[in-house]
Amino acid sequence: MIIDISKIILTKDKTQQYACSLSSDSIDYMHGSFPINNSKPFELSIVNEGGKNLTIRGNTGLDITIPCDRCLTDVDVPFDIVIDKTLRISDDLLISDDGEMTYINEGKLDVDRLLFDEILVDWPSKVLCRHDCEGICPKCGANLNIAPCDCDKSVIDPRMAKFQDVFKEFKEV
Ligand SMILES: [Zn+2]
Ligand SMILES: [Zn+2]
Repeated sequence: MIIDISKIILTKDKTQQYACSLSSDSIDYMHGSFPINNSKPFELSIVNEGGKNLTIRGNTGLDITIPCDRCLTDVDVPFDIVIDKTLRISDDLLISDDGEMTYINEGKLDVDRLLFDEILVDWPSKVLCRHDCEGICPKCGANLNIAPCDCDKSVIDPRMAKFQDVFKEFKEV
């Protein structure tokens, strides 16, 4: 959603509430596109502070469907998004103190962009369907959370044992 905030940028000491919602139903990150669920309408409060600063505040929540890192099952990951931005107004231009600002262009605020910036910062480094997810069998591809497979997994065990031996040797020195 794009909202026109050019008036408030130019109007000293003005406060305005904007009813916002997300237009996108998915978010691109790395090499994937992830569906967005349960995004609700929310309010953004924009304040022109003495013609010097523009603050943008609001919060909302949504879920993003991300596959489990071990078994690839879809997981709905909740995101709590808190928007709290202070931009400097200088010669009717907006300057962000925390680097590049891509969500306002020529007086138009791109609500999706604003939210996506926050989401990407909070993106989890690891997503698991449950903390003890068994993952997928590297041999037959079976989801081991559903049922164990009959594959011989002893191939991996000797190597692990070897590592343990080396570790032990180091310890004894
Ligand atoms: Zn899993
Ligand atoms: Zn298997």
